[in-house]
Amino acid sequence: MNTGDLHSLASSITAVASPFRNYLSDVYEKYRLLDDGVVADYIPELALAKPEWFGICVVTKNGQVFDVGECDQLFTIQSISKAFVYGLALEDHGREYVNTKVSVEPTGEAFNAIVLDEKTNRPYNPMVNAGAIATSDLIKGKGATERLKRILDMFKRYTGRAHDINVPVFLSEKATGNRNRAMAYLMLNFGMVSERVEETLDLYFQQCSILVNARDLGMMAGTLANGGINPVTGERAIDERYVQDVISVMLTCGMYDYSGEWVYRVGMPAKSGVGGGITAVAPGKLGIGTFSPPLDSKGNSVRGIKICEELAKDFGLHLFNVAKPDRVLEDWIAGTGDADTW
Ligand code: GLU
Repeated sequence: MNTGDLHSLASSITAVASPFRNYLSDVYEKYRLLDDGVVADYIPELALAKPEWFGICVVTKNGQVFDVGECDQLFTIQSISKAFVYGLALEDHGREYVNTKVSVEPTGEAFNAIVLDEKTNRPYNPMVNAGAIATSDLIKGKGATERLKRILDMFKRYTGRAHDINVPVFLSEKATGNRNRAMAYLMLNFGMVSERVEETLDLYFQQCSILVNARDLGMMAGTLANGGINPVTGERAIDERYVQDVISVMLTCGMYDYSGEWVYRVGMPAKSGVGGGITAVAPGKLGIGTFSPPLDSKGNSVRGIKICEELAKDFGLHLFNVAKPDRVLEDWIAGTGDADTW
């Protein structure tokens, strides 16, 4: 399926009137003018993002796509790539081996902290930079080109469309990434990564520079919510065995050093990136993709957090929710049940 097909498919589905679509439009309007947060500017290319860009896309496990706002605007995936590349590493090597190279323990520290487990020398988890670089090292392939192609092909399975790299962002990440380089060489010293350090660093900077939009993030989350099969294309993106592993580390470590509060308030496995994206999974139900560049002090999209909080609260999407939700998701999507309730 090419980009055009996907977009026409998405718009034909979203054209269906649904109380849920109206709900999404309402929350979009509610937060559209919220002007807290600051656009990332550690490299000049990211500072070009417009603070008013805002898109929300929800993809149900049945393949219904609801998008509101700027869902075609491309931006770099940044740290969101880490969760999905971790899934590919698990497929390449299996859980046991991957666990010898990267742990699954939250750090409570900044994503770019130069810290390894003192006893095992492993990076703490695949969502912090050290762990993500160790994970990228595990991606199989004969050389740089084949390894990158395997990552791009994986994202295509998740989103249903081909992806490009933003080359200026990649080159800037590479030029300014000495902190990441330091971590990689520290891990080489401890035998946590292989000798091809510079190739792996390039791969890491390239995976962060992959261009996506809010709809892609919704599809990626919807695919995980659907057990690893893209609910629109029907294609499997990740072996079913590893979906639980990926979304577990998303839950405990996916939102930088806000992850504990995120679980408390929202309770959905999620991953955010400094490009302004968030991908959040309600397992067995739906996936949410949001895009809004202004970030809070932890590096998470301000509007994105608000949207996920509202959806979790209104539809009882928190993993541990046992209370009757204010709104029944299925009724709101299908327009069934008592109209007074939606
Ligand atoms: N490319 C960034 C870095 O390695 C990742 C930023 C992010 O957390 O989204 O520093």
